[in-house]
Amino acid sequence: MPADKLHITLAGSEHVVEEGTTAGEALADRQPAGSAAPDSTGTPIAARVNGELRDLSSRLSDGDRVEPVGIDSRDGLNILRHSAAHVLAQAVQDLFPQAKLGIGPPIENGFYYDFDVPHAFAPDDLKAVEQKMRQIVRQGQRFSRRVVSDEDARAELAAEPYKLELIGLKGSAGRTDGADRTDGAAPTSSDVSGDSAESVEVGGPELTIYDNVDPATGAVAWKDLCRGPHLPTTRDIPAFRLMRSSGAYWRGSEQNPQLQRIYGTAWPSRAAQDDYLKLLEEAEKRDHRRLGAELDLFSFPTEIGSGLPVFHPKGGIVRKALEDYSRQRHEQSGYEFVYTPHITRSELFETSGHLEWYADGMYPPMEMEGARYYPKPMNCPMHILIYASRGRSYRELPLRLFEFGTVYRFEKSGVVHGLTRARGFTQDDAHIFCTPEQLQDELASLLDFVVGLLRDYGLTEFEAELSTRPDKFVGEIADWEKAEAALKHALDKSGLTYVIAAGEGAFYAPKIDVHVRDAIGRRWQLSTLQVDFQEPGRFGIEYQAADGSRQRPYMIHRALFGSIERFFGILVEHFAGAFPPWLAPIQVVGIPIADQHVGYLEQVATRLREHGIRVEVDASDDRMQKKIRNAQRQKVPYMLLAGDDDVAAGAVSFRYRSGEQKNGVPVAAAIAEITGAVASRIQV
Ligand SMILES: [Zn+2]
Ligand SMILES: [Zn+2]
Repeated sequence: MPADKLHITLAGSEHVVEEGTTAGEALADRQPAGSAAPDSTGTPIAARVNGELRDLSSRLSDGDRVEPVGIDSRDGLNILRHSAAHVLAQAVQDLFPQAKLGIGPPIENGFYYDFDVPHAFAPDDLKAVEQKMRQIVRQGQRFSRRVVSDEDARAELAAEPYKLELIGLKGSAGRTDGADRTDGAAPTSSDVSGDSAESVEVGGPELTIYDNVDPATGAVAWKDLCRGPHLPTTRDIPAFRLMRSSGAYWRGSEQNPQLQRIYGTAWPSRAAQDDYLKLLEEAEKRDHRRLGAELDLFSFPTEIGSGLPVFHPKGGIVRKALEDYSRQRHEQSGYEFVYTPHITRSELFETSGHLEWYADGMYPPMEMEGARYYPKPMNCPMHILIYASRGRSYRELPLRLFEFGTVYRFEKSGVVHGLTRARGFTQDDAHIFCTPEQLQDELASLLDFVVGLLRDYGLTEFEAELSTRPDKFVGEIADWEKAEAALKHALDKSGLTYVIAAGEGAFYAPKIDVHVRDAIGRRWQLSTLQVDFQEPGRFGIEYQAADGSRQRPYMIHRALFGSIERFFGILVEHFAGAFPPWLAPIQVVGIPIADQHVGYLEQVATRLREHGIRVEVDASDDRMQKKIRNAQRQKVPYMLLAGDDDVAAGAVSFRYRSGEQKNGVPVAAAIAEITGAVASRIQV
């Protein structure tokens, strides 16, 4: 073969190209095949070469496998957003030459960059920076990669102390790829990122700097220490906007200097960005922290501490209704209820392995009478002790233990978020002990139960994820395969759409996660089903099989809501505070047209209360219109109005949350309508 020809594989088919051909040229020459790579659409903005992301301008070698990366793909979005972060940093240093650069990774829906500046950025500063960014985008500056030695990088970046620190960290172990962090499966809509963000700067086999080259002059307008890859030019950023700024500690540690972080969002089109901004606006209106205060449901007293909520009477009613129904359904499905304490001696978590693997997520211990006691982060070990409290026969299995178990987990104050990420919360936690033969059927009926119950709470759209054996795992491969097959069988039987997250299981067990979409399309992870063949062994639990031999049971961990607090927060946002009648703290408000109708409505209310309906009559001095507005603000499902005509006819007039009205409904029919809606748990 002549030296000036390269044999490469382009999106799956063989090609011969000239030496010196770039990934971008090769992809552009490629005949548009009927089927593009599944994760990329339109013109590629980067390439995957032999599995690694590269710039379109990178030169190919003989034997390379080249795949296009479209801007809409997960990789493409990360590249777009990271490129926007560079433009942000360039604009900031243009306007604030004293600013020192921290890090600037892509995150879910956007990007940020950290700066060491003498003063926090004001809103006007952000406007000016955004304007400067638009200028840079219009110029179409080229992102140009160059490999540098450590020494040269240190010399070039002598004025950037944080970058120098990153050069020093190059190659240190335990760093993950920056792109992984922004997985769309993040359980909340929060964009708080982890601490491994420096990986966008260094960590590859070579140290590289990206220059922003002005196409008019050919001069380097700006540069950054960066692994890349990037878009070809700044003009390839179709839509972006700066969102806000906040303080952030360098590398996430309070021991380090506080930097100023600017957040932005960037999208493959204006339309996609507009959709996202609209979603944010809608999410803001539904924010459970705000509605929780407006509807008097719960609060987070600073005296108690971050991430530790208290439920007010109205929130308490909703929570009790949630829990009561869950209890009832669990009872019907053969669960037995147990109760366990909040703290335990350290030995329990030594046996379970939590202290070895999970200590970072635990509260520190208390010393008492020579022993160390930990607040529990999980209920599992205690349920195992209940199982182990006496000999068990195969006849008792499956044994399904259920508890509303309150646990405490240490979360950094930066990631605590209302009820959806708290430090103390109550799991609707079940542990099912079964024989190996029972595993498959038990999982299938369990998944059915989970989804059925979630539907009853008003959720309709589900997706599941099966996480399988990771590279680092404990146990026998045969056990893993058996458990994975049983989980897959359950998913197939359920009819749920699911994806397989290969290698994403915990090191001790594979699992199914059930995600829901809420009313505005956001995805939340809720239920988890996990097959555990480690803990039973660590605790040495057994049962006596039919042949008299001693066998080890399987254990299924299952949290359905995940945590009640989090589920509560998600429901508040899903319903925008307008709970369906069965969950509403006040289900009916009686509104008299004049004072003389109060007594009549009180009689109607008494009859409703006999049916267990939560009803109030507004006998205040407010005018009727004000009373209607108050009930609307409290999102009460039913207003019952009564005037002279209604009293004469033994009727009431309905006014619904929608504003719709229905007059002259006989009292018995009104009661039937309300009790019927409550009993069927429908949204009205
Ligand atoms: Zn970079
Ligand atoms: Zn568990």
